[in-house]
Amino acid sequence: MMHHIHDVENWQRVNGELAAYCFPGGYPLLYLDGADTVLCAACAEASIGADFERDRPVVCTVNWQTPTDCGSCGSLIACAYPKED
Ligand SMILES: [Zn+2]
Repeated sequence: MMHHIHDVENWQRVNGELAAYCFPGGYPLLYLDGADTVLCAACAEASIGADFERDRPVVCTVNWQTPTDCGSCGSLIACAYPKED
């Protein structure tokens, strides 16, 4: 089980940009900014240099069970284990 990673320096990158999927495992990653807004990898990357903590990503974690919309661009962040219904 991957824990929330708060240390930006340890976040995974692909070609220099924040990863959308973790390796190993390939699980979808989501990011949270200081205001607890969900961000996709692209939006996290775009805001990582923001002046205020509420505006920049501070948590990176696997999105385990619930498909979630990015709170910035609205794109869907897939989850690792979707519930079937
Ligand atoms: Zn986004």
